[in-house]
Amino acid sequence: MSLPSPYIGRFAPSPTGPLHAGSLVAALASYLDARANGGAWLIRIEDIDEGRAVPGAAETILAQLDWLGMQSDGGIVWQSRRKDLYQAARERIADYVYGCGCNRREIADSRLGVGPDGAAIYPGTCRLGLAPGREARSLRLRVPEPGEDLIGFQDRFAGWQEQRLALESGDFVLKRADGYWAYQLAVVVDDAEQGVTDVVRGADLLDSTPRQIYLQRLLGVSTPRYLHVPVVRNASGEKLSKQTGALAVLPGNEEAAVAALQQAAGFLGLRLAGPGASRPASLAAFWQEAVPAWAKLLAERGALLTG
Ligand code: GLU
Repeated sequence: MSLPSPYIGRFAPSPTGPLHAGSLVAALASYLDARANGGAWLIRIEDIDEGRAVPGAAETILAQLDWLGMQSDGGIVWQSRRKDLYQAARERIADYVYGCGCNRREIADSRLGVGPDGAAIYPGTCRLGLAPGREARSLRLRVPEPGEDLIGFQDRFAGWQEQRLALESGDFVLKRADGYWAYQLAVVVDDAEQGVTDVVRGADLLDSTPRQIYLQRLLGVSTPRYLHVPVVRNASGEKLSKQTGALAVLPGNEEAAVAALQQAAGFLGLRLAGPGASRPASLAAFWQEAVPAWAKLLAERGALLTG
């Protein structure tokens, strides 16, 4: 793969709680990939779902990242302050957007089942206009007809991925019934506006990527490279939540910080030191070992970017 220069990566946490063992893995992978490629790394706070954002959580995440040694190479971007950009994007693709009057119950009742991300597949009820007496609750984006709806991409970690948008997602929401812009639109607009060349994040978002690529094509912006790292799960196989994966990463406690980073690095399969070698004693020592270890890991998987 050729490397557009410069490399710009990002970490985009939703501020629903402090950094936890799962989100630290995504933060670490995105940071290491940027550093291993001599690139920039940006932090974006994805607080577009203001109903879910927990007051103070963003500040805690930023303090935790800072203490761990992951500082943004640019100003911090907050999605809640960029609604004009999302509105402008929606206007650019107005021909593909329609008002939808369906509620969750009605969509679930259509029995098309759920897509890979667990969301009910939209049956297209309001595609040709709202039924008399119905009011638009949300805005949806029209996806191509079956047969023309296949979107594929090469993931640097997970390999070739593809999805049939019509069958596996259906027309998806751009603006939600509660008035907030949907994650899919905000993430595409922001990645493009920030010039992100490389998205490194958890594999729980693999299924969202084809929708994002489709939006990029409609908006006429470039598609970044993608690298999705495995998601940390608890003993029952559930994705770690802020409640179950809490981390004691508090400024001042270097031992806990190194331990948390080491755990995340171990989960990613990084080999930090030879057998019998002692663990990095400091944050500085951790980073010194981790960046080349990431480059080595990717080289072994044939996923290293070349200039
Ligand atoms: N905000 C999302 C999350 O915290 C990540 C979105 C992304 O990286 O595209 O799960």
